Amino acid sequence: MTQNTACCGTLALVTGANKGIGREIAAQLAALGMTVLLAGRDRRRREEAASKLRSDGGDVHPIALDVTDPDIIAAAARTLDERFGRLDVLVNNAGIAGSIDRQTPSIADLDVVREVFNTNFFGVIGVTNAMLPLLRRSSAARIVNLTSSLGSLAGMSEPGSRLAGLPPWAAYPTSKTALNSLTVQYAKELRSAGILVNAADPGGCDTDFTRGKVTITRTAAQGAAIAVRLATLGPDGPTGGAFNDDGPVPW
Ligand code: NAP
Repeated sequence: MTQNTACCGTLALVTGANKGIGREIAAQLAALGMTVLLAGRDRRRREEAASKLRSDGGDVHPIALDVTDPDIIAAAARTLDERFGRLDVLVNNAGIAGSIDRQTPSIADLDVVREVFNTNFFGVIGVTNAMLPLLRRSSAARIVNLTSSLGSLAGMSEPGSRLAGLPPWAAYPTSKTALNSLTVQYAKELRSAGILVNAADPGGCDTDFTRGKVTITRTAAQGAAIAVRLATLGPDGPTGGAFNDDGPVPW
């Protein structure tokens, strides 16, 4: 196995990066001069997205990654190990909402709840743990998990707040609450290794995720900016927090 840790500048992997906020995170990291692994599960879409970012001048490479498939995750980690020997930035962006109609708590379809958790929570553990040996070889590794204000327990339980007024859902908000806790657990474990782990709340953005459900003017590029800031924290940066454009957000 060839390892060449001196082969290139900063290496970043972004999951679910063929479109939406993930693609914008990939574009912005590439614009900073990073080599970006644009991960996606659909071959045509990830290759098209990577090709477009390359034509814009970025050093961007497509890589197959379904965050719910352990074999594909392991293959992606092997590919990175052989090609680069390390990883500096991991952005766990891939996420799904699941069928909203089937997640009212009292009548929740458990298949929907499991599907959402498989991607938004278990997928993050699977990808992070597969990439950790590579991240540990970096001198300044950063992990960023894409969360949502909808997962904020403080927000959803504050009487009269916008989040308290939303309908009850058993899958998406709960998956992001669990992801927030997971972010803190990884931060605790990895603090001594100098790996900073934070959650980025992009705010409501106009993507396929929200289109047709709500009208939002904020762009995916605007939503990507906080993830990029957390991916590029200096050594004295925070770890184990959640942040949006305005700063720390309450759990
Ligand atoms: P999006 O446009 O729907 O993009 C989601 C991405 O995740 C797609 O690339 C999708 O790939 C990928 N994905 C889904 N399941 C996957 C899997 N099993 N393996 C690999 N990739 C998978 O959504 P978005 O708005 O950009 O959202 C990105 C992240 O931001 C999500 O975690 C979301 O929860 C979070 N977020 C979004 C908003 C918002 O307003 N948009 C607000 C708060 C938080 P395919 O094309 O193959 O489906």
